[in-house]
Amino acid sequence: MIVVMAAHATETEIKDVEQRIADWGYGVHPIYGAERTVIGATGVPEADKARYMESLESLPYVEQVMAILKPYKLASREISPTTTVIDVKGVPVGGNQIALMAGPCTVESYEQTWESAKACKEAGATILRGGAYKPSTSPYSFQGLGIEGLQILRDIADKLDMKVVTEVMDLRLVETVCQYADMLQVGARNMQNYDLLREVGKVKTPVLLKRGLSAKIEEWLQAAEYILIGGNPNVILCERGIRTFETYTRNTLDLSAVPAVRELSHLPVVIDPSQGTGKRSLVMAMTKAAVAVGADGLIIEVHPHPDQALKDGAQSLTCENFTQLVAELKPIAAAVGRSI
Ligand code: PEP
Ligand code: MN
Repeated sequence: MIVVMAAHATETEIKDVEQRIADWGYGVHPIYGAERTVIGATGVPEADKARYMESLESLPYVEQVMAILKPYKLASREISPTTTVIDVKGVPVGGNQIALMAGPCTVESYEQTWESAKACKEAGATILRGGAYKPSTSPYSFQGLGIEGLQILRDIADKLDMKVVTEVMDLRLVETVCQYADMLQVGARNMQNYDLLREVGKVKTPVLLKRGLSAKIEEWLQAAEYILIGGNPNVILCERGIRTFETYTRNTLDLSAVPAVRELSHLPVVIDPSQGTGKRSLVMAMTKAAVAVGADGLIIEVHPHPDQALKDGAQSLTCENFTQLVAELKPIAAAVGRSI
């Protein structure tokens, strides 16, 4: 870490900071400038950094303390020069092939999920999405079928030879959801639920970690670090739009997150254009852009009758829309050296 001394710091104060760093057992590397002194502290272990940074920052003669290394290690690009391929029960995410995840926003019934899943599978999707436990802004809206929803997903996915991704909201249900799902979704609203992150870090089931509504990329990667440090190496990041001042779209889909994460992390990145835009008319275009920008996967809401959907009908593609979309994505994927 780097300690920037205040402009008015005296020689005694500078020596005091140097002594503190030395007493903690770390290397002291001062640069005495004409106006200001900067002290480098080397060898500080990650676990102690925050505490020592705060301690030094509380001194009136210290202006600023900066960490040099990223606040996440296991999620960092330094771990691996190539994107890590996560194996979702035989479906790779992060490799050359773009992983296609699709299905209804919410499991409403067996019929509705079946119709959606069948069309998605026929169009080329390999992972079935669908919420059994739904995080809802309104306590009055549909909250999901719970365990029955999980059973429906599993049954249909097995019949169609698909994998299942579904959200787990409650840390007490991680084990249960793992019995039915091939991948756990941690929703945007739970990205900073650190108890839940720790819990999904204890299993080996891959985790689709959505970016929080107002999370910076660094915070999102730190959330991933919670899961990785817990012992689960199978983390896939999912950009699903962030909250901005814009209201025409439900969220602002931050496609720059794809190349940004690519620079910062070895974890695969998936785009959710459905929550990302909130509008069916925009989903097709943003999905194409996501492929062009290098997304490792897509997760798209498809409903057989969007006008009858209990949730997110306005952003759900029809089965026909989805089939058409996949056909249109193929040449774009090929143009960027990927397949779909
Ligand atoms: C969803 O996938 O339907 C969902 C609720 O996602 P998010 O957590 O991104 O809002
Ligand atoms: Mn949804």
